[in-house]
Amino acid sequence: MLWSFFACVVLHELGHSLMARRFGVGVRRILLLPIGGMAEFESIPREPRRELLITLAGPAVNFVIAGVFWGLIYLLGALSTWNYPAAISDFLDALLWGNLVMGLFNLVPVFPMDGGRIFRALLATRMSYLRATFFAATVGKIIAALAVGMAIVVVVATEEKEEMFQASLLAALFTFILVMAELEFRTTKTRETADSRRLTIPKLAPGTPSTPEPPLLTAI
Ligand SMILES: [Zn+2]
Repeated sequence: MLWSFFACVVLHELGHSLMARRFGVGVRRILLLPIGGMAEFESIPREPRRELLITLAGPAVNFVIAGVFWGLIYLLGALSTWNYPAAISDFLDALLWGNLVMGLFNLVPVFPMDGGRIFRALLATRMSYLRATFFAATVGKIIAALAVGMAIVVVVATEEKEEMFQASLLAALFTFILVMAELEFRTTKTRETADSRRLTIPKLAPGTPSTPEPPLLTAI
């Protein structure tokens, strides 16, 4: 069961990667982690519309997979003359819901998860990239801190081992996101400051500046 969820994570990352390739952005590698996956890019064009499409492509893959499994479950239900084993329907159900949750969870605006990047790209159409990153990272850090707090309350209060385990995982994941948000904001700040100095001599900065980006994170 676990391998099939990781297969969906890989497909999610491939969604980002293929969309990035369409824009000529190279993909260095796709990493699988216990908490999810990451696609590492050579650079992401600092153009909100492209970043938006590259980021949306990941969760979109999960929704397409969920749709396919929903269709399969519907078909199997309609052709109910064949009484297929409960294990198969459990498996299909798990993948349907797993992908729905994966898609939706990654859309929560917690920077630097997909949702947070989408939020930043939307903000960046109205303000500077640095300000947009600041707001997206701040909102992300607040949500992540609340999630860590809630997860810790569950760990302390619950008596069920599995609930305790899941809450600890969530606490670890959101702590990781909190740190990543701060790190990425600092990286962006340093880079933008350096870029703005360079931009005072326009001839040295032809075309759209391309920025090396930290990896796109997918949580499961
Ligand atoms: Zn993603």
